Amino acid sequence: MIVMKFGGTSVQDAHAMSHVKSIASQYDNEKILIVSSACSGMTSDLLKLATDSVHMSDEERNSRIDAMRDRHCGIARELGVEDAVRDTLIALCDSLRSICEGIALLGECTPRSSDSIASFGELLSTVILDGLLQTGHSSLWFDARRVISTDSTFQQAQVDQAETESKAMKVLLPLFDDHRIVITQGFIGADTHGTTTTLGRGGSDFSAAIFGSALDVREIIIWTDVSGIASADPRIIPDARYIHEMSFDEARMLSFFGAKVLHPDTLIPALSKHIPVHVRNTFKSSDRGTTITHKGDEKAIGFRSVIGKRTVTCIHLHGLPGTNYHESKREILDHISHLTRLDPLIQSRVGDSETVVYDASVKYFSGFLEQDYPTLTITMKEYALLSAIGPNLQTEHSKQSVKTFYEILIKHDPDPVFFTGIQPNTLSALVQQEHADIIIAELHKHCT
Ligand code: ASP
Ligand code: MG
Repeated sequence: MIVMKFGGTSVQDAHAMSHVKSIASQYDNEKILIVSSACSGMTSDLLKLATDSVHMSDEERNSRIDAMRDRHCGIARELGVEDAVRDTLIALCDSLRSICEGIALLGECTPRSSDSIASFGELLSTVILDGLLQTGHSSLWFDARRVISTDSTFQQAQVDQAETESKAMKVLLPLFDDHRIVITQGFIGADTHGTTTTLGRGGSDFSAAIFGSALDVREIIIWTDVSGIASADPRIIPDARYIHEMSFDEARMLSFFGAKVLHPDTLIPALSKHIPVHVRNTFKSSDRGTTITHKGDEKAIGFRSVIGKRTVTCIHLHGLPGTNYHESKREILDHISHLTRLDPLIQSRVGDSETVVYDASVKYFSGFLEQDYPTLTITMKEYALLSAIGPNLQTEHSKQSVKTFYEILIKHDPDPVFFTGIQPNTLSALVQQEHADIIIAELHKHCT
């Protein structure tokens, strides 16, 4: 059995959904749990509908809901399955209408109502997918809330994995006796009272990992609109390559230092059970994609990817007292995070100075008054943060690559700030923003 998760762009319209169908046919010897996101843009539209319902006119509210209904019915029509799913889509939109009416009457949108409204995106998209896959396959629509058990922290609910696992065994697994494909929703769950909750924006990857781990599947495939995790941002480096095998830690470093493709922490439930996770392209399903496993590519040497954060702020604290260095530093950092709600991305000490990097523009720190710390010299400056990542950078074989990294940086930037050993298998440096693109391009030529 495998889990396939389809993201918002993979179900955004009839064209995308027809790709989903052909992918499901390519795996015709396999039992598949499909975990789908809402059609792209829907979750944001629904959340806006929820908050706007407090003050919107009845006409405006209804016309927005009509537009959502028409979008889904239109997709179903184009796919030739409108007759099969229309009544269900309309019934769902009618429930959505009632909840929004409730919000309008009460003049208040609670996190609980907001979750219940947000859940309609996934409910609607999966009804269409089910209608589509019924033709030619034996598929079944399944309400994820029957399995995904959470606490009642609306909008960011925490999953009770043990409870979820036991329900998956009891109510979900047996359905595969009679059905090859079961279609369910990402992002949503229910608390102990059966009230709808959501797992936070982008939560469908996490749902896929939870389902995969609960059912102990052979693999999880995250179908998206790019062919995997790339060696650099393809918008800056047109010849960026996709990395075929990657360890969980390497993927985590990439995401931490700025890659957008996926947040690997959401895969922890799967990886802790050693279930490989593949990232693949719905629209180019023969592309190999990236496989994320515990061990990744053990033979790789040097750095394999280069990633940049365009705008970070470096705060340099000079003259911290030797005796209570840590307390003084912590006091300042607490003060900053109190003002900005930001946690440091990097902290590094050299002698009596501390360099702290934050993932935000320097403007963000305007409320921080350096005069409050008269014994220190504090400087704040905006940079780009560049990182080169490889699974075995610490080893002897990677020495040359490490040297190349430093040489290229020094060649282009007179005064880079290097960080070593901040994160395993990552070389990082702060450079002047105007040099960032050219340095990334040159470093990328040396990716292995
Ligand atoms: N539909 C939800 C969102 O847009 C969850 C997801 O797509 O992962 O945040
Ligand atoms: Mg999404």
